[in-house]
Amino acid sequence: MRLLFFLLFSINILFAQEDCPKAWMYYEWRVDLRKITLEEYQIEVPIDKIQIDFLGAPVGVPYKFGYKFYVKPEEVAHFEEDEFALHQQAYEALKALRSAALADSLHLPIHYSYRSIEEQRKVYKRFGAKVAEKPGMSEHHLYTTIDLKWVSDHNERFLWLLENAFDYGWVPSYYFRVDQRLKKEPWHWRYVGKLAADKFYCAWKDEIEAKIEKIKKAQ
Ligand SMILES: [Zn+2]
Repeated sequence: MRLLFFLLFSINILFAQEDCPKAWMYYEWRVDLRKITLEEYQIEVPIDKIQIDFLGAPVGVPYKFGYKFYVKPEEVAHFEEDEFALHQQAYEALKALRSAALADSLHLPIHYSYRSIEEQRKVYKRFGAKVAEKPGMSEHHLYTTIDLKWVSDHNERFLWLLENAFDYGWVPSYYFRVDQRLKKEPWHWRYVGKLAADKFYCAWKDEIEAKIEKIKKAQ
């Protein structure tokens, strides 16, 4: 009987692992991230909800992004009259995303991209802890994150993004997450690379599909 349980348990683990692809090389680090998140923020994040992006930065947990240099200055692309700055790879992925959106007659203008710790300090002061991350903790420090204009919880733009953006490596990292300290943000999208975006989609599949259905029904 015990052997049978063991076998069933092993089969279960085997299938669970095959369900969503995992970055095994970062497994140990991901365990540590869970511990840090639990100790510092009292938030328990299941292991499959933590991804690592193409820069090696965590996705899905609160993190001090602003205190590590993930991007070299020569890797940064400045665009739209220097108003915005993104990692070159994120910028290329943004162009691809925008072309696809345009083919469906949808413009995707940006509101914010990169923010320094100093700029985040102002945002935090203005909007408070329910809406903004503390300076140093924002994903906008990463050169991979944008806030899009005119994306709201139930609109066509959010629906289009949910159905398409993952294919271009973008995830709505402040919408689907375990951490509930901040309000959900449908306009906030982070480029994490295709691998991490696939894992993110897989980990949040039920929630994403339910949201897509909900928006479709409301239209
Ligand atoms: Zn944002």
